[in-house]
Amino acid sequence: MGSTSKSGQAAWQRTHRIGLLRETDVDEKVVLNGWVAKRRNMGGIYFLDMRDRFGVSQVVLTGSEERIGWSMDEGEILAPEDVLSVVGTVKKREQPNDEMPTGQIEVIAERVEVLSRSRLAPFEIERDSDANVELRLRHRYLDLRRPDMQEKMIFRSKFVGAMRNAFLEREFLEIETPMLTRATPEGARDYLVPSRVHAGKFYALPQSPQIFKQILMVSGMDSYFQVARCFRDEDLRADRQPEFTQLDMEMSFVEEEDIYAVWEGIVGDTFREAMDLELPSTFARLTWIEAMERYGSDKPDTRFELELQNLGDWAKDCGFGVFEKAVAGGDRVMAISMPNGAEHFSRGAMKALEKLAKENGAFGLAWWKPGLTGGAAGPVAKFMDGDPGARLLQTLGAKEGDLVLFSAGSKELCWRVLGELRLHLAKATNLIEAGKWNFLWVTEFPMFEWSEEDQRYTSSHHPFTAPESWDMAGNPAHMASRAYDLVLNGWELGSGSVRIHRADVQQKVFELLGIREEEQKAKFGFLLEALAHGAPPHAGFAIGLDRLVALCLGLDSIRDVVAFPKTLQATDLMCEAPSTVEAQSLKDIHISLESEV
Ligand code: ASP
Repeated sequence: MGSTSKSGQAAWQRTHRIGLLRETDVDEKVVLNGWVAKRRNMGGIYFLDMRDRFGVSQVVLTGSEERIGWSMDEGEILAPEDVLSVVGTVKKREQPNDEMPTGQIEVIAERVEVLSRSRLAPFEIERDSDANVELRLRHRYLDLRRPDMQEKMIFRSKFVGAMRNAFLEREFLEIETPMLTRATPEGARDYLVPSRVHAGKFYALPQSPQIFKQILMVSGMDSYFQVARCFRDEDLRADRQPEFTQLDMEMSFVEEEDIYAVWEGIVGDTFREAMDLELPSTFARLTWIEAMERYGSDKPDTRFELELQNLGDWAKDCGFGVFEKAVAGGDRVMAISMPNGAEHFSRGAMKALEKLAKENGAFGLAWWKPGLTGGAAGPVAKFMDGDPGARLLQTLGAKEGDLVLFSAGSKELCWRVLGELRLHLAKATNLIEAGKWNFLWVTEFPMFEWSEEDQRYTSSHHPFTAPESWDMAGNPAHMASRAYDLVLNGWELGSGSVRIHRADVQQKVFELLGIREEEQKAKFGFLLEALAHGAPPHAGFAIGLDRLVALCLGLDSIRDVVAFPKTLQATDLMCEAPSTVEAQSLKDIHISLESEV
């Protein structure tokens, strides 16, 4: 590589980005840096497609160019993914390619220098690779070099940048909170980091910046935000990552409405800037109980209807013993009816629906295809002759040709079973229109959930969430909280709440959660202390950026929008983390392993 010129630019260094060359650059002398994407030998003339992050341009080698670091001899020729510096002149192409942004021009090379050689890649560096996922993750640097992955990373950067700007424009402060900290109760297991200086003590990596952002409010740092990395050691279900990024925020002197308004503005600005899409100025809302009763889910996909219906009045004397008994015993009978659904679901397909119902806790699946007779009409058809059937059709607003699915049991069971069936019916019959962005606030979540396993209450959101009323009168099992979620097309994008800003209420909530005074002091003493030093009323929210970016790109998996994701076994295949460490390193942090692993 040559020496640096007076201008500070070495001879090999680029003057232009490869993918940005246009007709306006014709006759310019340029230096390009990038990778060999493709080569074609056309009778002594070499056509190279050269690639950088901005795109691909055609480079023509006529044979008269100066060659540095390569030749036409075997073992010395240019290979895919070699890194080059090309000096040349931009010319108008005789045969333009209208498909490519740079398709009007080509670069006639005068000097071609190899800056770095590439081994044969284990998979093609091309759009939409069908290479094995593990191979791609192991060689993530090559995977990320593929144009579609580059586009995803570029979009993510643009999206996060737009969101950051939207916060800054609204006078928010970007403040970083620590990574080495104490446990934050978001309901998952902590990643622990042993302390070298304090034998036997551990830091926890944050599950969220929750406590710190509340303390920032006590500190007077009204309106904070952060692009925050969070760590949760959970069994990884299909699309989760042990570390993920959320856009976390908190405001002082606000209530629910203020948070909704700020986020509607911020998401609107971000979508306009990054997606060129205009969202409605306010988002729809449902209380938690409405969401459960109508959709059987606290993250309902409202792009299609198929709502749940409570059939108590009809079922109590419908003539079908199982249903009558359920209602008499205080349980529920609920149903969904799918307009013209009968034809979509053959007997085999009904088996699949039944399987899904059973997986969600049902004993079986009662269904009815009104208008059909015999086995084709479904297991409860024989009870529907005459009046019960007619009354049911009227109650459901259903008709011949529809498909009716029932669930009987506790309301939670009916919600779960019918909620899942509802999603399945919509997917199986392509009921969901593309291009819809159904943002929805789900509000007034329950304050507590009863854990049968632990025989105690747990927080539905987290223990810092305010109850519906500060006096906390009434049965904890029926207490609503001031927590809210933002849902997009059936995905929970984020959660937040009005917080407890009074030490006495916070203590009471801890008590209800079974956290005794000593434990409160040990774990949250600093928070209780802070709340006792002039804590403003405050509220906040955090949105999962990985999921939101994936949804914006129409992707099912967040792995494609995370540069270096982990596998379902929480491993990084590229750097092989986690790994063993040297004995001395363990000794330094006062750890001895139970057995050789
Ligand atoms: N800390 C919560 C979470 O990470 C968000 C919030 O309540 O602001 O889910």
